[in-house]
Amino acid sequence: MGSKRDEPERLEAARLAAHLQPRLQEQGVRRVTITWVNHAGSTLVKVVPLERLAAVARDGVGFSPVSDAWRVDGVPDPAHPQAVPDGDLRLVPDLRALLPIESESGWAWAPADRWCRDGSLYPLDQRGFCHRMQTRLKAAGVEVTMGFEIEWVVASPEADRSPAPAIAGGPYGADRLVNGFDYVAALSACLDAAGLPWLQIHPEYGPGQFELSLAAADPLTAADRQIVARLLIQRITHRFGWQAMFDPLPDPAQVGNGGHLHLSVHRQGAPLLEGGDGAAGLPSAGEGLIGSLLHHLPALLAISCPLAISYDRLKPGCWSAPFQAWGVENREAALRLIPAAADGAPAHLEMKVADLSANPYLVCGSVLALIEEALGQPRPLPAPVVGDPSLMPTPPERLPASLEVASEAFASCRPLASAMGERLHHSLVATQHAECRRADTIKEASHGDRL
Ligand code: GLU
Ligand code: MG
Repeated sequence: MGSKRDEPERLEAARLAAHLQPRLQEQGVRRVTITWVNHAGSTLVKVVPLERLAAVARDGVGFSPVSDAWRVDGVPDPAHPQAVPDGDLRLVPDLRALLPIESESGWAWAPADRWCRDGSLYPLDQRGFCHRMQTRLKAAGVEVTMGFEIEWVVASPEADRSPAPAIAGGPYGADRLVNGFDYVAALSACLDAAGLPWLQIHPEYGPGQFELSLAAADPLTAADRQIVARLLIQRITHRFGWQAMFDPLPDPAQVGNGGHLHLSVHRQGAPLLEGGDGAAGLPSAGEGLIGSLLHHLPALLAISCPLAISYDRLKPGCWSAPFQAWGVENREAALRLIPAAADGAPAHLEMKVADLSANPYLVCGSVLALIEEALGQPRPLPAPVVGDPSLMPTPPERLPASLEVASEAFASCRPLASAMGERLHHSLVATQHAECRRADTIKEASHGDRL
Protein backbone atom coordinates (compact mmCIF):
# COMPACT_ATOMS: atom_id res chain seq x y z
CA MET A 1 0.00 0.00 0.00
CA GLY A 2 1.62 3.25 -1.18
CA SER A 3 1.28 6.75 0.26
CA LYS A 4 -0.60 8.02 -2.80
CA ARG A 5 -3.35 6.56 -4.98
CA ASP A 6 -1.96 7.48 -8.35
CA GLU A 7 -3.76 7.35 -11.69
CA PRO A 8 -2.66 3.82 -12.71
CA GLU A 9 -3.83 2.42 -9.36
CA ARG A 10 -7.22 4.16 -9.70
CA LEU A 11 -7.66 2.87 -13.25
CA GLU A 12 -6.71 -0.65 -12.15
CA ALA A 13 -9.40 -0.53 -9.43
CA ALA A 14 -11.98 0.63 -11.99
CA ARG A 15 -10.98 -2.19 -14.34
CA LEU A 16 -11.39 -4.77 -11.56
CA ALA A 17 -14.84 -3.37 -10.75
CA ALA A 18 -15.87 -3.54 -14.40
CA HIS A 19 -14.68 -7.16 -14.47
CA LEU A 20 -16.64 -8.07 -11.31
CA GLN A 21 -19.84 -6.20 -12.12
CA PRO A 22 -21.50 -8.62 -14.60
CA ARG A 23 -20.72 -11.63 -12.38
CA LEU A 24 -22.20 -9.91 -9.34
CA GLN A 25 -25.24 -8.92 -11.35
CA GLU A 26 -25.72 -12.54 -12.36
CA GLN A 27 -25.63 -13.52 -8.67
CA GLY A 28 -28.44 -11.05 -8.03
CA VAL A 29 -26.34 -8.30 -6.45
CA ARG A 30 -27.85 -4.84 -6.99
CA ARG A 31 -25.99 -2.68 -4.49
CA VAL A 32 -22.80 -2.69 -2.45
CA THR A 33 -22.55 -1.71 1.17
CA ILE A 34 -19.19 -0.15 2.00
CA THR A 35 -18.06 -0.15 5.61
CA TRP A 36 -15.37 1.49 7.68
CA VAL A 37 -14.83 1.39 11.44
CA ASN A 38 -14.24 4.55 13.46
CA HIS A 39 -11.96 5.08 16.47
CA ALA A 40 -14.85 4.22 18.82
CA GLY A 41 -15.24 0.81 17.14
CA SER A 42 -18.56 1.57 15.41
CA THR A 43 -18.98 0.15 11.93
CA LEU A 44 -20.23 2.87 9.59
CA VAL A 45 -21.64 2.50 6.14
CA LYS A 46 -22.48 3.96 2.73
CA VAL A 47 -24.37 2.11 0.00
CA VAL A 48 -23.80 2.49 -3.75
CA PRO A 49 -25.68 0.96 -6.70
CA LEU A 50 -23.82 -1.80 -8.53
CA GLU A 51 -23.77 0.34 -11.69
CA ARG A 52 -21.57 2.89 -9.89
CA LEU A 53 -19.04 0.35 -8.63
CA ALA A 54 -16.36 1.19 -11.20
CA ALA A 55 -16.65 4.94 -10.57
CA VAL A 56 -16.59 4.41 -6.80
CA ALA A 57 -13.62 2.01 -7.02
CA ARG A 58 -11.74 4.67 -8.97
CA ASP A 59 -12.68 7.83 -7.06
CA GLY A 60 -14.26 6.64 -3.81
CA VAL A 61 -17.35 8.03 -2.16
CA GLY A 62 -17.28 10.99 0.19
CA PHE A 63 -17.56 11.18 3.95
CA SER A 64 -16.53 13.72 6.59
CA PRO A 65 -13.51 12.91 8.80
CA VAL A 66 -15.68 13.77 11.83
CA SER A 67 -16.67 10.14 12.51
CA ASP A 68 -13.49 9.57 14.50
CA ALA A 69 -14.64 12.22 16.99
CA TRP A 70 -17.78 10.21 17.75
CA ARG A 71 -18.02 8.36 20.99
CA VAL A 72 -19.42 4.85 21.06
CA ASP A 73 -22.94 6.32 21.50
CA GLY A 74 -22.51 8.32 18.27
CA VAL A 75 -22.21 11.68 20.04
CA PRO A 76 -19.21 13.77 18.90
CA ASP A 77 -16.86 14.66 21.74
CA PRO A 78 -16.37 18.45 21.49
CA ALA A 79 -12.77 18.23 22.78
CA HIS A 80 -11.70 15.71 20.12
CA PRO A 81 -9.34 17.13 17.44
CA GLN A 82 -11.55 15.60 14.72
CA ALA A 83 -14.69 17.34 15.98
CA VAL A 84 -14.74 19.89 13.15
CA PRO A 85 -17.14 20.32 10.23
CA ASP A 86 -14.36 20.80 7.68
CA GLY A 87 -12.84 18.41 5.19
CA ASP A 88 -13.89 15.42 3.15
CA LEU A 89 -12.42 11.97 2.60
CA ARG A 90 -12.93 9.36 -0.09
CA LEU A 91 -14.06 5.88 1.01
CA VAL A 92 -12.47 3.51 -1.48
CA PRO A 93 -13.86 -0.06 -1.39
CA ASP A 94 -11.28 -2.82 -1.45
CA LEU A 95 -12.76 -4.99 -4.19
CA ARG A 96 -10.39 -7.88 -3.48
CA ALA A 97 -12.27 -8.27 -0.19
CA LEU A 98 -15.78 -7.89 -1.66
CA LEU A 99 -18.30 -10.57 -0.65
CA PRO A 100 -21.88 -11.15 -1.68
CA ILE A 101 -23.93 -10.98 1.51
CA GLU A 102 -27.52 -12.06 1.13
CA SER A 103 -27.27 -11.79 -2.65
CA GLU A 104 -30.84 -13.13 -2.93
CA SER A 105 -31.98 -9.73 -1.68
CA GLY A 106 -29.38 -7.89 -3.75
CA TRP A 107 -26.59 -7.14 -1.28
CA ALA A 108 -22.80 -7.29 -1.51
CA TRP A 109 -20.29 -5.87 0.97
CA ALA A 110 -16.79 -4.42 0.76
CA PRO A 111 -14.55 -2.79 3.38
CA ALA A 112 -13.18 0.67 2.62
CA ASP A 113 -9.92 2.51 3.10
CA ARG A 114 -10.19 6.28 3.52
CA TRP A 115 -8.01 8.51 1.37
CA CYS A 116 -7.64 12.29 1.14
CA ARG A 117 -9.39 13.91 -1.81
CA ASP A 118 -6.06 14.60 -3.54
CA GLY A 119 -5.26 10.86 -3.46
CA SER A 120 -2.77 11.14 -0.59
CA LEU A 121 -2.79 8.79 2.38
CA TYR A 122 -5.18 9.72 5.21
CA PRO A 123 -2.99 9.20 8.26
CA LEU A 124 -5.90 8.45 10.62
CA ASP A 125 -7.35 5.62 8.55
CA GLN A 126 -7.44 2.50 10.74
CA ARG A 127 -7.63 -0.08 7.96
CA GLY A 128 -4.83 1.71 6.14
CA PHE A 129 -2.70 1.44 9.30
CA CYS A 130 -3.31 -2.31 9.49
CA HIS A 131 -2.53 -2.69 5.80
CA ARG A 132 0.70 -0.66 6.08
CA MET A 133 1.91 -2.73 9.03
CA GLN A 134 1.14 -5.98 7.22
CA THR A 135 3.04 -4.83 4.12
CA ARG A 136 5.99 -3.63 6.22
CA LEU A 137 6.35 -6.92 8.10
CA LYS A 138 5.95 -8.96 4.96
CA ALA A 139 8.74 -6.95 3.31
CA ALA A 140 10.93 -7.88 6.29
CA GLY A 141 10.13 -11.57 5.80
CA VAL A 142 7.66 -11.76 8.70
CA GLU A 143 4.37 -13.46 7.94
CA VAL A 144 1.60 -13.21 10.54
CA THR A 145 -1.67 -15.15 10.41
CA MET A 146 -4.63 -14.08 12.53
CA GLY A 147 -8.20 -15.15 13.25
CA PHE A 148 -10.89 -13.78 15.58
CA GLU A 149 -13.38 -15.48 17.85
CA ILE A 150 -16.70 -13.68 18.21
CA GLU A 151 -18.90 -14.06 21.29
CA TRP A 152 -22.38 -12.61 21.60
CA VAL A 153 -25.57 -12.94 23.63
CA VAL A 154 -28.81 -13.67 21.80
CA ALA A 155 -31.36 -11.60 23.69
CA SER A 156 -35.06 -10.82 23.46
CA PRO A 157 -35.62 -7.40 21.92
CA GLU A 158 -36.98 -5.89 25.12
CA ALA A 159 -33.53 -6.42 26.67
CA ASP A 160 -32.20 -3.20 28.03
CA ARG A 161 -29.33 -3.29 30.50
CA SER A 162 -29.90 -6.84 31.70
CA PRO A 163 -30.42 -9.01 28.65
CA ALA A 164 -33.15 -11.66 28.65
CA PRO A 165 -31.56 -14.67 26.90
CA ALA A 166 -33.70 -15.64 23.90
CA ILE A 167 -32.49 -19.25 23.64
CA ALA A 168 -32.61 -21.37 26.77
CA GLY A 169 -30.07 -24.06 27.64
CA GLY A 170 -26.96 -24.66 29.72
CA PRO A 171 -23.33 -23.59 29.24
CA TYR A 172 -21.94 -25.20 26.06
CA GLY A 173 -25.21 -27.15 26.22
CA ALA A 174 -26.53 -29.43 23.52
CA ASP A 175 -29.96 -28.37 24.83
CA ARG A 176 -29.19 -24.76 23.91
CA LEU A 177 -28.00 -25.81 20.49
CA VAL A 178 -31.12 -27.89 19.88
CA ASN A 179 -33.34 -25.04 21.08
CA GLY A 180 -31.45 -22.84 18.64
CA PHE A 181 -31.04 -25.35 15.78
CA ASP A 182 -32.93 -23.16 13.29
CA TYR A 183 -30.97 -20.10 14.35
CA VAL A 184 -27.54 -21.73 14.08
CA ALA A 185 -28.49 -23.41 10.77
CA ALA A 186 -29.62 -20.06 9.34
CA LEU A 187 -26.44 -18.38 10.54
CA SER A 188 -24.08 -21.02 9.16
CA ALA A 189 -25.97 -21.04 5.82
CA CYS A 190 -25.60 -17.27 5.65
CA LEU A 191 -21.83 -17.46 6.38
CA ASP A 192 -21.44 -20.16 3.72
CA ALA A 193 -23.43 -18.19 1.14
CA ALA A 194 -21.17 -15.20 1.76
CA GLY A 195 -18.08 -17.41 1.33
CA LEU A 196 -16.88 -16.60 4.83
CA PRO A 197 -14.82 -19.53 6.15
CA TRP A 198 -15.65 -20.47 9.73
CA LEU A 199 -14.19 -23.11 12.03
CA GLN A 200 -16.83 -23.66 14.68
CA ILE A 201 -20.00 -22.34 16.28
CA HIS A 202 -21.13 -23.32 19.77
CA PRO A 203 -23.25 -22.21 22.70
CA GLU A 204 -20.89 -20.37 25.08
CA TYR A 205 -20.85 -20.37 28.87
CA GLY A 206 -23.15 -17.41 29.62
CA PRO A 207 -26.97 -17.55 29.30
CA GLY A 208 -27.99 -17.13 25.64
CA GLN A 209 -24.32 -16.72 24.65
CA PHE A 210 -22.87 -18.14 21.42
CA GLU A 211 -19.42 -18.17 19.84
CA LEU A 212 -18.21 -18.23 16.24
CA SER A 213 -14.54 -18.91 15.39
CA LEU A 214 -13.39 -17.56 12.05
CA ALA A 215 -10.70 -19.18 9.93
CA ALA A 216 -7.25 -17.62 10.11
CA ALA A 217 -5.91 -15.43 7.31
CA ASP A 218 -3.59 -12.48 6.85
CA PRO A 219 -4.31 -9.77 9.47
CA LEU A 220 -6.21 -7.40 7.17
CA THR A 221 -8.49 -10.21 6.00
CA ALA A 222 -8.97 -11.39 9.60
CA ALA A 223 -10.18 -7.91 10.58
CA ASP A 224 -12.43 -7.67 7.50
CA ARG A 225 -13.93 -11.05 8.32
CA GLN A 226 -14.67 -10.03 11.88
CA ILE A 227 -16.63 -7.02 10.65
CA VAL A 228 -18.69 -8.82 8.03
CA ALA A 229 -19.33 -11.80 10.33
CA ARG A 230 -20.78 -9.46 12.95
CA LEU A 231 -23.05 -7.86 10.36
CA LEU A 232 -24.31 -11.29 9.34
CA ILE A 233 -24.85 -12.40 12.95
CA GLN A 234 -26.78 -9.20 13.56
CA ARG A 235 -28.87 -9.74 10.42
CA ILE A 236 -29.82 -13.34 11.17
CA THR A 237 -30.53 -12.62 14.84
CA HIS A 238 -32.82 -9.76 13.85
CA ARG A 239 -34.63 -12.04 11.39
CA PHE A 240 -35.55 -14.27 14.32
CA GLY A 241 -36.92 -11.25 16.19
CA TRP A 242 -34.00 -11.17 18.67
CA GLN A 243 -30.99 -8.94 19.14
CA ALA A 244 -27.30 -9.84 19.12
CA MET A 245 -25.40 -8.18 21.99
CA PHE A 246 -21.65 -7.96 21.37
CA ASP A 247 -21.03 -5.67 24.38
CA PRO A 248 -18.03 -6.59 26.55
CA LEU A 249 -20.31 -7.25 29.53
CA PRO A 250 -24.03 -7.28 28.66
CA ASP A 251 -24.93 -8.46 32.17
CA PRO A 252 -22.60 -7.68 35.10
CA ALA A 253 -23.77 -10.85 36.86
CA GLN A 254 -22.53 -13.08 34.01
CA VAL A 255 -19.35 -13.71 32.01
CA GLY A 256 -18.62 -11.23 29.24
CA ASN A 257 -18.16 -11.38 25.49
CA GLY A 258 -14.58 -11.70 24.28
CA GLY A 259 -13.20 -10.98 20.83
CA HIS A 260 -10.09 -13.13 21.27
CA LEU A 261 -7.37 -12.92 18.64
CA HIS A 262 -5.42 -16.02 17.55
CA LEU A 263 -2.10 -15.44 15.84
CA SER A 264 0.90 -17.31 14.51
CA VAL A 265 4.18 -15.85 13.27
CA HIS A 266 6.76 -17.04 10.74
CA ARG A 267 10.05 -15.33 9.95
CA GLN A 268 11.79 -16.19 6.67
CA GLY A 269 9.43 -19.19 6.51
CA ALA A 270 10.33 -20.56 9.96
CA PRO A 271 7.64 -20.73 12.67
CA LEU A 272 8.46 -18.65 15.76
CA LEU A 273 6.11 -20.39 18.19
CA GLU A 274 7.30 -24.00 17.82
CA GLY A 275 10.26 -26.17 16.90
CA GLY A 276 12.73 -24.72 19.43
CA ASP A 277 14.32 -25.96 22.62
CA GLY A 278 13.13 -23.17 24.93
CA ALA A 279 10.11 -23.04 27.23
CA ALA A 280 7.18 -25.07 25.80
CA GLY A 281 9.23 -25.82 22.68
CA LEU A 282 9.61 -22.15 21.77
CA PRO A 283 12.63 -21.04 19.75
CA SER A 284 14.49 -18.15 21.40
CA ALA A 285 12.94 -15.62 18.98
CA GLY A 286 9.50 -16.89 20.04
CA GLU A 287 10.38 -16.51 23.72
CA GLY A 288 11.56 -12.95 23.09
CA LEU A 289 8.41 -12.26 21.09
CA ILE A 290 6.02 -13.37 23.85
CA GLY A 291 8.16 -11.59 26.47
CA SER A 292 7.93 -8.35 24.54
CA LEU A 293 4.20 -8.66 23.78
CA LEU A 294 3.59 -9.23 27.48
CA HIS A 295 5.62 -6.15 28.34
CA HIS A 296 3.50 -3.96 26.03
CA LEU A 297 0.09 -5.51 26.87
CA PRO A 298 -0.99 -2.67 29.21
CA ALA A 299 -0.65 -0.19 26.31
CA LEU A 300 -2.32 -2.54 23.83
CA LEU A 301 -5.28 -2.88 26.17
CA ALA A 302 -6.37 0.69 25.40
CA ILE A 303 -6.91 -0.50 21.80
CA SER A 304 -8.18 -4.04 22.37
CA CYS A 305 -10.44 -3.21 25.36
CA PRO A 306 -11.37 0.39 24.52
CA LEU A 307 -14.51 1.04 26.57
CA ALA A 308 -14.67 1.84 30.27
CA ILE A 309 -16.91 -1.21 30.71
CA SER A 310 -14.34 -3.42 28.95
CA TYR A 311 -12.46 -3.44 32.28
CA ASP A 312 -15.46 -4.85 34.15
CA ARG A 313 -15.25 -7.89 31.85
CA LEU A 314 -11.61 -8.47 32.81
CA LYS A 315 -12.24 -10.37 36.04
CA PRO A 316 -10.40 -13.45 37.31
CA GLY A 317 -12.25 -16.73 36.97
CA CYS A 318 -14.11 -15.80 33.75
CA TRP A 319 -11.48 -16.82 31.17
CA SER A 320 -11.07 -13.19 30.21
CA ALA A 321 -7.54 -13.46 31.62
CA PRO A 322 -6.78 -10.16 33.35
CA PHE A 323 -3.19 -11.02 34.36
CA GLN A 324 -0.03 -9.92 32.59
CA ALA A 325 0.96 -13.54 32.13
CA TRP A 326 1.36 -16.28 29.57
CA GLY A 327 0.68 -19.97 29.91
CA VAL A 328 0.52 -23.17 27.93
CA GLU A 329 -3.15 -23.95 27.27
CA ASN A 330 -4.01 -21.82 30.31
CA ARG A 331 -7.31 -19.99 29.81
CA GLU A 332 -6.61 -17.52 32.62
CA ALA A 333 -3.42 -16.24 30.94
CA ALA A 334 -3.71 -13.12 28.78
CA LEU A 335 -1.47 -14.83 26.21
CA ARG A 336 -2.33 -18.50 25.87
CA LEU A 337 0.15 -20.58 23.91
CA ILE A 338 -1.53 -23.38 22.01
CA PRO A 339 1.27 -25.76 20.97
CA ALA A 340 1.26 -27.55 17.62
CA ALA A 341 -1.14 -30.50 17.72
CA ALA A 342 -1.23 -33.94 16.19
CA ASP A 343 -3.91 -32.69 13.78
CA GLY A 344 -1.24 -30.54 12.14
CA ALA A 345 -2.59 -27.24 13.50
CA PRO A 346 0.39 -24.90 13.91
CA ALA A 347 1.36 -23.52 17.30
CA HIS A 348 -0.26 -20.19 17.93
CA LEU A 349 -1.03 -17.61 20.58
CA GLU A 350 -4.46 -16.59 21.76
CA MET A 351 -4.71 -13.05 23.03
CA LYS A 352 -7.71 -13.15 25.34
CA VAL A 353 -7.67 -9.53 26.47
CA ALA A 354 -9.63 -8.24 23.50
CA ASP A 355 -13.34 -7.55 23.16
CA LEU A 356 -15.66 -6.65 20.33
CA SER A 357 -15.96 -2.97 21.18
CA ALA A 358 -12.47 -2.66 19.66
CA ASN A 359 -11.77 -1.59 16.10
CA PRO A 360 -10.30 -4.85 14.69
CA TYR A 361 -8.08 -2.98 12.22
CA LEU A 362 -6.49 -1.09 15.10
CA VAL A 363 -6.13 -4.32 17.10
CA CYS A 364 -4.45 -6.20 14.24
CA GLY A 365 -2.30 -3.22 13.20
CA SER A 366 -1.18 -2.62 16.80
CA VAL A 367 -0.33 -6.29 17.38
CA LEU A 368 1.70 -6.25 14.14
CA ALA A 369 3.51 -3.10 15.33
CA LEU A 370 4.34 -4.83 18.62
CA ILE A 371 5.53 -7.96 16.81
CA GLU A 372 7.86 -5.78 14.76
CA GLU A 373 9.12 -4.16 17.96
CA ALA A 374 9.49 -7.55 19.67
CA LEU A 375 11.58 -9.04 16.87
CA GLY A 376 13.91 -6.03 16.99
CA GLN A 377 13.97 -5.89 20.76
CA PRO A 378 13.12 -9.25 22.31
CA ARG A 379 12.49 -9.31 26.06
CA PRO A 380 13.02 -12.03 28.64
CA LEU A 381 10.14 -14.43 29.03
CA PRO A 382 8.86 -15.03 32.57
CA ALA A 383 7.84 -18.54 33.63
CA PRO A 384 4.46 -19.64 32.29
CA VAL A 385 1.58 -19.61 34.76
CA VAL A 386 0.17 -22.99 35.68
CA GLY A 387 -3.28 -23.13 37.28
CA ASP A 388 -5.34 -20.15 38.33
CA PRO A 389 -3.04 -17.10 38.58
CA SER A 390 -5.30 -15.48 41.19
CA LEU A 391 -4.56 -18.40 43.56
CA MET A 392 -0.77 -18.26 43.17
CA PRO A 393 1.12 -17.28 46.35
CA THR A 394 2.60 -14.38 44.37
CA PRO A 395 0.19 -13.76 41.50
CA PRO A 396 1.50 -12.12 38.32
CA GLU A 397 0.80 -8.40 37.77
CA ARG A 398 -2.81 -7.53 37.05
CA LEU A 399 -3.32 -5.76 33.73
CA PRO A 400 -4.74 -2.20 33.94
CA ALA A 401 -8.04 -2.23 35.80
CA SER A 402 -9.41 0.83 34.00
CA LEU A 403 -9.27 2.55 30.63
CA GLU A 404 -7.60 5.57 32.28
CA VAL A 405 -4.61 3.43 33.30
CA ALA A 406 -4.42 1.60 29.96
CA SER A 407 -4.64 4.91 28.11
CA GLU A 408 -1.69 6.31 30.08
CA ALA A 409 0.37 3.26 29.05
CA PHE A 410 -0.78 3.69 25.44
CA ALA A 411 0.06 7.41 25.41
CA SER A 412 3.65 6.65 26.41
CA CYS A 413 4.09 3.52 24.27
CA ARG A 414 6.86 4.46 21.85
CA PRO A 415 6.55 1.51 19.43
CA LEU A 416 2.81 2.06 18.96
CA ALA A 417 3.24 5.83 18.61
CA SER A 418 5.94 5.47 15.99
CA ALA A 419 4.13 2.76 13.99
CA MET A 420 0.84 4.67 13.98
CA GLY A 421 2.33 8.09 13.40
CA GLU A 422 1.79 11.02 15.71
CA ARG A 423 -1.61 12.09 14.34
CA LEU A 424 -3.31 8.70 14.63
CA HIS A 425 -1.76 8.01 18.03
CA HIS A 426 -2.74 11.42 19.38
CA SER A 427 -6.25 11.14 17.98
CA LEU A 428 -6.75 7.73 19.65
CA VAL A 429 -5.62 9.11 23.01
CA ALA A 430 -8.28 11.82 22.57
CA THR A 431 -10.89 9.09 21.88
CA GLN A 432 -9.85 7.22 25.04
CA HIS A 433 -10.17 10.41 27.10
CA ALA A 434 -13.62 11.04 25.56
CA GLU A 435 -14.73 7.52 26.55
CA CYS A 436 -13.48 8.04 30.12
CA ARG A 437 -15.49 11.29 30.35
CA ARG A 438 -18.59 9.59 28.89
CA ALA A 439 -18.38 6.75 31.40
CA ASP A 440 -17.84 9.18 34.30
CA THR A 441 -20.95 11.11 33.31
CA ILE A 442 -23.03 7.92 33.22
CA LYS A 443 -21.65 6.85 36.59
CA GLU A 444 -22.45 10.25 38.14
CA ALA A 445 -25.98 10.16 36.69
CA SER A 446 -26.69 6.65 38.01
CA HIS A 447 -25.28 7.65 41.39
CA GLY A 448 -27.71 10.60 41.34
CA ASP A 449 -30.57 8.15 40.62
CA ARG A 450 -29.77 6.25 43.79
CA LEU A 451 -29.74 9.33 46.02
N1 GLU B 1 -16.32 -15.26 27.55
C1 GLU B 1 -14.93 -15.22 27.90
C2 GLU B 1 -14.39 -13.80 27.71
O1 GLU B 1 -15.00 -12.91 28.13
C3 GLU B 1 -14.10 -16.20 27.09
C4 GLU B 1 -14.48 -17.64 27.16
C5 GLU B 1 -13.54 -18.45 26.29
O2 GLU B 1 -12.40 -18.74 26.70
O3 GLU B 1 -13.87 -18.68 25.12
O4 GLU B 1 -13.37 -13.55 27.20
MG1 MG C 1 -15.31 -18.48 23.95
